[in-house]
Amino acid sequence: MSSEAETTPAPSPRSWDTRCCVVGGGPAGMMLGYLLARAGVEVTVLEKHADFFRDFRGDTIHPATTEVLAELGLLDEFLRLPHTEVPELRLGIDGRTFGLVDFRHLRTRCKFMAFMPQWDFLNFLATQAKQYPSFRLEMSTEATGLLRHGGQVTGVRARTAQGDVEIRADLTVACDGRFSRIRQLTDLPVREFAMPIDVLWFRVPRSEDAPPTLGYLGGGQIVIAIDRGDYWQCGTIIEKGTLTQVQAAGLAVFRDRVAHAAPFLAAGLAALTGWDQVRLLSVRSNRLRRWYQPGLLCIGDAAHAMSPAGAAGVNYAIADAVATANHLAARLRTGTVVVADLQRLQRRREPAIRGAQALQRRQTRQLARLAQSNPPIQLLRLISHTPPVKRLLGRIVGLGFGREHIHSPNHTHHR
Ligand SMILES: Cc1cc2nc3c(=O)[nH]c(=O)nc-3n(C[C@H](O)[C@H](O)[C@H](O)COP(=O)(O)OP(=O)(O)OC[C@H]3O[C@@H](n4cnc5c(N)ncnc54)[C@H](O)[C@@H]3O)c2cc1C
Repeated sequence: MSSEAETTPAPSPRSWDTRCCVVGGGPAGMMLGYLLARAGVEVTVLEKHADFFRDFRGDTIHPATTEVLAELGLLDEFLRLPHTEVPELRLGIDGRTFGLVDFRHLRTRCKFMAFMPQWDFLNFLATQAKQYPSFRLEMSTEATGLLRHGGQVTGVRARTAQGDVEIRADLTVACDGRFSRIRQLTDLPVREFAMPIDVLWFRVPRSEDAPPTLGYLGGGQIVIAIDRGDYWQCGTIIEKGTLTQVQAAGLAVFRDRVAHAAPFLAAGLAALTGWDQVRLLSVRSNRLRRWYQPGLLCIGDAAHAMSPAGAAGVNYAIADAVATANHLAARLRTGTVVVADLQRLQRRREPAIRGAQALQRRQTRQLARLAQSNPPIQLLRLISHTPPVKRLLGRIVGLGFGREHIHSPNHTHHR
């Protein structure tokens, strides 16, 4: 196989061949790597970071995803990892708590949302995948370019501490998230949706227990607090592009606003002494109009960046990976993936993503409004006292649109 990049002058980069090169070791990439290896497909996953240990990801594992783990026979082992089981999502406002989303009536094995630091989940998938001989994971390896031959993508060039490498592959799958480098290297058309919010993300040491509530609202501030044992992983919503104003008002004002919404954080917030402890997470929502080129497929946030609303992006990334393995594993084994296969995959997944993103846009606008106006207490009370509505919301959030089940083969034996 030759490529344009091979014309680069010496020293020539290290290189190897594989059937499928997956760029990005997030939920989509690690799940796809695992499923392809399980199906006996030679697969290399590239992850630019040295480990999975960082904070910019959601911690939520939805009932639809735990169901996928059950179908793979991995659920018991997964549930042995430290996690929190949340059967109902609640919102706290001025000391009152409203249960809004109820998972307890789902017909799934896990009738709860599992909260687990995402690095634990990704490490779990990596450990499982490494048991298959056709799996290769390259950490600290950042894809920087696409190899092409004629009109076909034939792999990627990547940067490592030891120099550049080239991985030639029958199929490259971009799973590199909402700022996808691979996507930027293509001319795939994107539809961008304006998002009115950004998220500030910070840790607060645990000083006292809180009610098992996820979201808090007060004084025009929405605060999310995820229990991570000895600290709270907190997020708060700001109007898009207003970080400079928030910073100009001062850290004391910021701490007060957060404490107003979530009073149990007040003592711990004293540990927040510099803006370097507060990270801005830029919220994006967009969708590729076409998810593929010959030799290249984009899935997960690389194909459709999800906003944090409804905390569902991980679930959809996993479902994309499951569908990709279902559709392509057998073809990849024989090296016969054609554009029509990639087209079919987009056709299968796109309706679910369109629905989910439309819902997220609505939720995001509501979140932005909630932060600006008085909370609709009557409506929240009505929902929290209407079990069928809470169950319906539990279905929508917990299972999402376009659920996928495992149909890809389990061909290989463990190492
Ligand atoms: C503020 C915020 C909060 C969110 N909270 C939640 C939540 O609570 N629950 C939820 O379900 N969803 C949440 N989401 C959405 C969720 O994070 C994404 O939808 C989901 O992570 C997408 O998974 P992915 O595997 O497609 O991409 P990502 O999780 O973004 O993973 C991409 C991976 O690719 C790697 N990478 C990037 N570029 C390269 C490169 N060039 N070479 C090699 N590797 C590369 C990255 O390091 C990363 O590991 C949130 C999103 C935002 C912005």
